[in-house]
Amino acid sequence: MRPYQLICPGCGAVLEDHYTLACPSGCRALVRADYRKKRLDLRDEPGIFRFADWLPVEGTLPAEAGPVTYRSTAFAREIGLENLWIGFSGYWPEHGARITTCSFKELEALPTVVRMRETGSGTLVVASAGNTGRAFCQTAAVTGIPVVVVVPTGGRDRIWTAEPTDRACLITVDGDYSDAIAAADTLCNTPGLVPEGGARNVARRDGMGTVMLDAAVSIGRVPEHYVQAVGSGTGGIAAWEAAMRLIGDGRFGSALPRLHLAQNIPFIPMVRAWQAGRREIVPEIDMPDARRSIAAVSADVLTNRNPPYAIGGGVYDALTATDGRMYGVENRAAEEAGRHFTGAEGIDLDPAAAVAVAALLEAVESGAISPGDCTLLNITGGGYRRAEESLDLRVVEPSFRLRSPDGAAACARDVLGWVNEHA
Ligand SMILES: *Cc1c(COP(=O)(O)O)cnc(C)c1O
Ligand SMILES: [Zn+2]
Repeated sequence: MRPYQLICPGCGAVLEDHYTLACPSGCRALVRADYRKKRLDLRDEPGIFRFADWLPVEGTLPAEAGPVTYRSTAFAREIGLENLWIGFSGYWPEHGARITTCSFKELEALPTVVRMRETGSGTLVVASAGNTGRAFCQTAAVTGIPVVVVVPTGGRDRIWTAEPTDRACLITVDGDYSDAIAAADTLCNTPGLVPEGGARNVARRDGMGTVMLDAAVSIGRVPEHYVQAVGSGTGGIAAWEAAMRLIGDGRFGSALPRLHLAQNIPFIPMVRAWQAGRREIVPEIDMPDARRSIAAVSADVLTNRNPPYAIGGGVYDALTATDGRMYGVENRAAEEAGRHFTGAEGIDLDPAAAVAVAALLEAVESGAISPGDCTLLNITGGGYRRAEESLDLRVVEPSFRLRSPDGAAACARDVLGWVNEHA
């Protein structure tokens, strides 16, 4: 018997995991992992697999990448907070942070690859604006398990690894993130190439959820506030789910943290829908002129046109359950907040993390977060400069180049051939 089962919150069905991404009865709800162990014991592992009790895996990998939590002094003092904790997912070895691809996407990629190895079959296909693709390439390098990564051509420079690898099949598509998603979807019509699943993948959610677990064991309690910049909102859902498990454990308090989730103006579909009190995102109202808005944000990893917002157990439900807030952050405010954070704490940030910092400042100013409140700021990416200084980073060369997503069908066979050659 595996150490967990899957549960559909829509109909209550209990499912055995076959890399299952959805309820077989067709419920519109995110299937969840239900761990047999209700009490979290930390494993003696160097990174994320410390939390393997609450990851949908049986085995682990000897990976150093993992979540890190520390209490802020300088930045906290400057913004008037007494109890601010930083969840840092990036490269900052002085603080024990060893995610060489510099974002929390590696926390999703590692358990996903193990879950696929244990419960599925085929090669994972991942569409990415950059950070996810880089994380999965790095994981392919560490495990030797091939992966197919599809990115918009403009994001190609973002795909690098800290170890040499010939196991990452990089495909570039002219266009934006949506075009990369369309191409990846087409590739997955070919048997042997399987979708990684995004928010529907419990390994991704529970991998991201380890930021909340690490915070709780570091602080000694579940925080009162959780602040994160979101594109899909998967990290927000994951934080909520992890907090529910921690409350069930009994040692970390009994109240859910309030979610404070931020997007980057002008592309803020979830902010608009939430502030209008709607469960549904209405494209004409919430993301008019999407292509242009997406091109205008400073943090394009936050531009998902089809986030798991309305779906059962998704972002809307997470915000409702936690009395959450959403924030729209201008590029300038994000850049300023990012500079402020870097000046005080001494580490460079991913532009998305700077959006979260700006949202924190807004929450403090508006009184939504009080000076003494126990607050977890999720710095979802950073340390790029630090990584460049001390790691041997190598750009991954594309194996296939597509002019549009329509070209994906014709190249699927060659992609499969590539995978078989490199497996
Ligand atoms: C993907 C990403 C986000 C957004 O994460 P979601 O929870 O999936 O919306 C935020 N910051 C960084 C650095 C990311 O790479
Ligand atoms: Zn169901």
